[in-house]
Amino acid sequence: MLVKHTTGNNRIIIAIDGPAASGKSTTARKVAEKLGYTYIDTGAMFRSVTLKVLDLGMIDAVRQFPESILPLLQDLTVAFRGERVFLDGRDVSAAIRENRVSREVSFVSSLAPVRDRLRRMQQEMGSRKGVVMDGRDIGTVVFPDAELKIFLVADARERAKRRYAELAAKGASGSGLPDIGMLEQEILERDRADAERELAPLEKHPDAIEIDTSELSIDEQVGKVSRLALEKIASCAMTGKS
Ligand code: C5P
Repeated sequence: MLVKHTTGNNRIIIAIDGPAASGKSTTARKVAEKLGYTYIDTGAMFRSVTLKVLDLGMIDAVRQFPESILPLLQDLTVAFRGERVFLDGRDVSAAIRENRVSREVSFVSSLAPVRDRLRRMQQEMGSRKGVVMDGRDIGTVVFPDAELKIFLVADARERAKRRYAELAAKGASGSGLPDIGMLEQEILERDRADAERELAPLEKHPDAIEIDTSELSIDEQVGKVSRLALEKIASCAMTGKS
């Protein structure tokens, strides 16, 4: 049983990065719960911007003229309430997980104004520490000074199986359920796009601790990261850092 660290000066930033479906969000959410920290899913923020572009029918325009995204970013708000995500005040928790969003999110995330805007929002959200933030560039770009940086990896087939189970659990069945091979291809394609882009590519910070989750259960992943977090919180308390 872990003790909750809801108060005091020993609040740190925990950055969890890694490729698609590596277990980041489940691990980050549960670790945050155990520590009494706030969980911030930055992938959901990039997905929300992508949904906004799609719903306005602007994806082709943005592809052709990337600067046409600027007005859309000006009044953008993304807020988290519990497990729900709100885009400009609208609950988009289900819509941002749709495949049409997954297919375009790497492109929208590669645009400099999108990254600038969301990076500033994320830095503001983490400014009082006591956060677990997951994404692709949290330990490298958003919070390079995060006290604890984790990089999760997992075998692509294993990740596809997890995504399949997730979709099946959400009620997709029969023709609504893509096959595992196709999911694996989509995941690998997204990893490639995220790792090869020019701005804030997916990469491991030299200080990040890499954990391969292929053979680990959720409880084991959460246990490992929570232990590392408690050690770090204790050592920051001793040295007066954080
Ligand atoms: O974490 P999730 O798979 O929901 O992220 C969706 C996409 O958002 C990623 O494939 C990536 O293109 C983008 N993303 C990013 N930087 C982050 C988090 C997500 O570029 N920090």
